[in-house]
Amino acid sequence: MSTKLILIFGDQLSLNISSLQTANPKKDMILMCELRNEVEYVKHHKMKIAFIFSAMRHFSGTLSTKGYNVTYIRLDDKENTGNFYHEVERICKLSSIDEIVLTEPSEYRVLSDIWTWQKKLNKTVTILEDDRFLCSKDEFKFWASGKKQLRMEFFYREMRKKLDVLMTDKANPEGGKWNYDSDNRKSPNLNLDIPNPHITKIDSITEEVIELVNENFADHFGKLENFYFAVTRLDALKVLAQFVEERLVYFGDYQDAMIENEPWMFHSHISFYLNCGLLTPLECVNASLVAYADKKVPLNAVEGFIRQIIGWREYIRGIYWLKMPSYKELNFLGSTRKLPKFFWDGNTNLNCLKQCISETEKHAYAHHIQRLMVLGNFSLLAELDPSDVNEWYLIVYADAYEWVELPNVTGMILFADGGVVASKPYAAGGAYINKMSNYCKNCCYSVTKKTGDKACPFNYLYWNFLNKKRPLLEKNPRVAMMYRTWDRMDEEKKTETIKSAEKFLNLL
Ligand SMILES: Cc1cc2nc3c(=O)[nH]c(=O)nc-3n(C[C@H](O)[C@H](O)[C@H](O)COP(=O)(O)OP(=O)(O)OC[C@H]3O[C@@H](n4cnc5c(N)ncnc54)[C@H](O)[C@@H]3O)c2cc1C
Ligand code: SF4
Repeated sequence: MSTKLILIFGDQLSLNISSLQTANPKKDMILMCELRNEVEYVKHHKMKIAFIFSAMRHFSGTLSTKGYNVTYIRLDDKENTGNFYHEVERICKLSSIDEIVLTEPSEYRVLSDIWTWQKKLNKTVTILEDDRFLCSKDEFKFWASGKKQLRMEFFYREMRKKLDVLMTDKANPEGGKWNYDSDNRKSPNLNLDIPNPHITKIDSITEEVIELVNENFADHFGKLENFYFAVTRLDALKVLAQFVEERLVYFGDYQDAMIENEPWMFHSHISFYLNCGLLTPLECVNASLVAYADKKVPLNAVEGFIRQIIGWREYIRGIYWLKMPSYKELNFLGSTRKLPKFFWDGNTNLNCLKQCISETEKHAYAHHIQRLMVLGNFSLLAELDPSDVNEWYLIVYADAYEWVELPNVTGMILFADGGVVASKPYAAGGAYINKMSNYCKNCCYSVTKKTGDKACPFNYLYWNFLNKKRPLLEKNPRVAMMYRTWDRMDEEKKTETIKSAEKFLNLL
């Protein structure tokens, strides 16, 4: 019988992953590596590195306890080459390995490298499907084929039917509507108590990893003082349970709300665990369904949450694999401005950006609407270069892997794919940020002023953006109305708007 080398990547920390299903613990070898080139090809947030390394070390311990033969290469092991291929080559020279088995990596960059291994190593390399997702790549391709538009909403309805989630029968959704988003846009309620997030106690493994990160990656973005992550499946399950118990009830109502110094709001904080394999999407969905069945949470909350998991998350992954590798190069709007320095230090007078960046620096987390409406909206309006923006998002969030980060940035916030993900650019002036947050109260700019030095920059940037991109956008029926409003503005106001925008942008 042949001996297999089974590779487990840092985001494959699931005992039921397809590669492990093939393992014979008595003779096969499992290989896990902490790789310098994975951590440094973009300089990931310190907290993200510490979280993933600690979760990997804990997972390797679990595998050993279960009787698997694990070779775990630590970052500071002397022979560690820092590169997965070279580590595999090294292990193959030291042991008699007949076949290399892995579950397909989540990123195109890694997969395309592995495609070259079989020839280079002269050994069979078997790549298995990642069946932790609820929609396979082929299924998504089938759904997408022949469609003019790939709207998430229709994909989501198919997923609801396929998984029989929140359905009264085969065709009809619970409550009569597929989507309760219109109920889910309440302005922030400052009188509500927001529960504290789950904070996992730091053990000796995490402590050691934190030290390692501080020693090796001191120049990377982010702080490492407030480590809060679950690093085992058991602790990740506790985070999920706490969310369902304490926060899910308001998840829908306040999904789009932002409050100063409240980074966690009523969100679930589980993306890190879903994306590295400590939680599965269906168990998160089921936990929320139990709370709904027990009448602890309303339909708009549970539907909203489930839509994120079986809708958005699966759809985004589907788009990534459908469109890669060319998707990464897209820049439909031709934006070229370099990322301003304040994205790295939060040193800006725009209070909304300052809040979101400083929370990102502290927690390697920002909730969806901060990523979308504040940071993303600004990146769009300021015409920031998509490759810079993509790199920033990939670096700063602990849940960021290219498969999920790229379509969200290139598609959802920058409209750089020309409308594959979004039907129109997600552009908004300051009034919408003011409606959904209390950020404007402590800002030195006035959200009601439209032009001049004291005016909220989002206000003039919004019109300046639409005006500049007119040749690319005016035929979009969802934007046409805004052009009619712009055309009705008097010339002096238009000139002032453009002048204010140019002055601001020139100082970035
Ligand atoms: C510009 C931008 C970049 C993003 N980058 C990432 C990223 O790198 N990694 C990542 O996991 N999510 C990303 N998202 C999606 C979303 O913001 C995060 O999943 C969410 O903020 C994670 O926090 P949470 O677990 O508290 O989520 P909740 O708000 O509680 O949502 C529940 C879950 O739904 C899923 N989800 C919700 N929206 C999306 C979405 N648009 N795409 C994929 N999954 C979604 C996540 O798994 C999330 O954990 C991005 C969104 C934007 C607008
Ligand atoms: S006034 Fe404008 S810049 Fe200031 S917080 Fe509000 S939206 Fe942001």
